[in-house]
Amino acid sequence: MRVVFLGAPGVGKGTQADRIAAQFKIAKISTGDLLREAVRNQTELGREAKRYMDQGQLVPDAVVIGLVRDKLAEPGSANGFVLDGFPRTVPQAEALGKVLQETQRPLHRVVKFEVPRQDVIRRLSGRRSCPKCQATFHVEFAPSKKGDACDRCGETLIQRSDDTPEAIETRLQVFEEQTAPLIRYYASKRLLSEVNASGSVDAVFEALFSVLAPYSAI
Ligand code: AMP
Repeated sequence: MRVVFLGAPGVGKGTQADRIAAQFKIAKISTGDLLREAVRNQTELGREAKRYMDQGQLVPDAVVIGLVRDKLAEPGSANGFVLDGFPRTVPQAEALGKVLQETQRPLHRVVKFEVPRQDVIRRLSGRRSCPKCQATFHVEFAPSKKGDACDRCGETLIQRSDDTPEAIETRLQVFEEQTAPLIRYYASKRLLSEVNASGSVDAVFEALFSVLAPYSAI
């Protein structure tokens, strides 16, 4: 199964990508996660990317395309993959199409996550994550049982540096301007499906499962 999750920041793509990857035994490839890892490791790429990420801007296409190309070449993605947060621009989508064509692995589906704007802002501003084990929480919808500390490892939870009100505003604007055109791009290729992503994590997973199960080899 080879799928792309498309949607504004905060619609729950990452949470669902984890579950879909586990359910169908495919790789989750998240450019946001890969970039945050590079930032944590203070690599040259990480230092360059951080400047864009903290402001809510997109990291240059060439950087993220390189990251995804490398990941797709790894054996871990041979059984399939879910791309979370990539592509985010038309040039990224075109580059992805080329890479997949070269290896004769065309996409099966692109799933658009639908959530009203006010819910997105609420989801993003309440998000917390563990800097040590990367577990994610939400102060309202999925709080840690240990309050400000991580349920899993006890580390103090932090807010992502791009989940501030200013960066959230920019990220939503960037989505409308640069990523939303991909909806039409993939619809014209007859690859697009939409799911209502404003329900509970379980309800959204059910909806995704019905869309994706036909493409599963399991
Ligand atoms: P995310 O975790 O998907 O919300 O991504 C966090 C940040 O990483 C974004 O706001 C961008 O700065 C950067 N980023 C992630 N994926 C991409 C991408 N495909 N293209 C450009 N920048 C990206």
